[in-house]
Amino acid sequence: MTTDGPSIFTRIIGGEIPADVVLDTERLIAFRDIAPQAPVHLLVVPKTDAYATVAELAAGDPALLAELVATASALAAEHADGDYRLVFNSGPAAGQTVFHVHAHVLAGGLEEGTLA
Ligand code: C5P
Repeated sequence: MTTDGPSIFTRIIGGEIPADVVLDTERLIAFRDIAPQAPVHLLVVPKTDAYATVAELAAGDPALLAELVATASALAAEHADGDYRLVFNSGPAAGQTVFHVHAHVLAGGLEEGTLA
């Protein structure tokens, strides 16, 4: 939740801002990151804006977090070879810029030992 209006992801979910959507379910949306850092770079985003970080989501709705992880895994199998990194930036000092919880799914030809 933000104090200055709906997050950019809420606006994507609402169709106000375009995105390259790859999956749209009752509780989640997934789309391609506009600034990809891997051959496959998807964002998996809960539709609710109630949680800013993965820790808040884990505490508030663990079933939704489990659904998000299962979805990320299925998307990595669909869009790459099934192997993936799942990244949740948590807090500005860790690079979080959108305070509406989301997972980065990074897959496809990742170099060993690198962090995206
Ligand atoms: O973890 P962090 O909050 O930095 O991630 C936000 C991500 O959202 C960025 O990777 C950015 O490229 C992506 N983004 C996007 N489409 C937008 C705005 C941001 O894919 N319209």
